[in-house]
Amino acid sequence: MKTMWAPWRMEYIQSENQENCIFCEALSTTDDLTLYKGSITMVMMNKYPYINGHLLAAPVRHISMPDELNKDEMGELMATVEKSVGILKSVMNPDGFNIGLNLGKVAGAGVEEHLHFHIVPRWHGDTNFMPVISDLRVIPEAIKETYGYLKPLFENYRNGE
Ligand SMILES: [Zn+2]
Repeated sequence: MKTMWAPWRMEYIQSENQENCIFCEALSTTDDLTLYKGSITMVMMNKYPYINGHLLAAPVRHISMPDELNKDEMGELMATVEKSVGILKSVMNPDGFNIGLNLGKVAGAGVEEHLHFHIVPRWHGDTNFMPVISDLRVIPEAIKETYGYLKPLFENYRNGE
């Protein structure tokens, strides 16, 4: 039997106790996770990544379902996902990607009220990284370092271009 691999489902376990919307909070404050704040979309590092380089792309507007996206948001969101993939490719050279949406708690959404795409870079044999990446002492350092590499590449990106 072939098992479908959906690593972002781990989000549910790791961010259960989230009270505020992390995306709206990131838009209104300065933090060391947010890579891009545009007029229509935003990109941030996942604080609880499946693997280093795990990004989240969301519309700026606090909406929960794809049918609430207007045409501009729909287009920009896909363009932002594509941009994120391009940047991850150039910096981290992954062999592939998992990209997906969790809609609703039952589907594994940690922040179900604000729609977001998971963009997860994958490498051949990366399941071997699991013991390392699940070590909580390692993750904050890895995220900080990766943020430093990715942030400059999002600097010149603008929605609508
Ligand atoms: Zn929100």
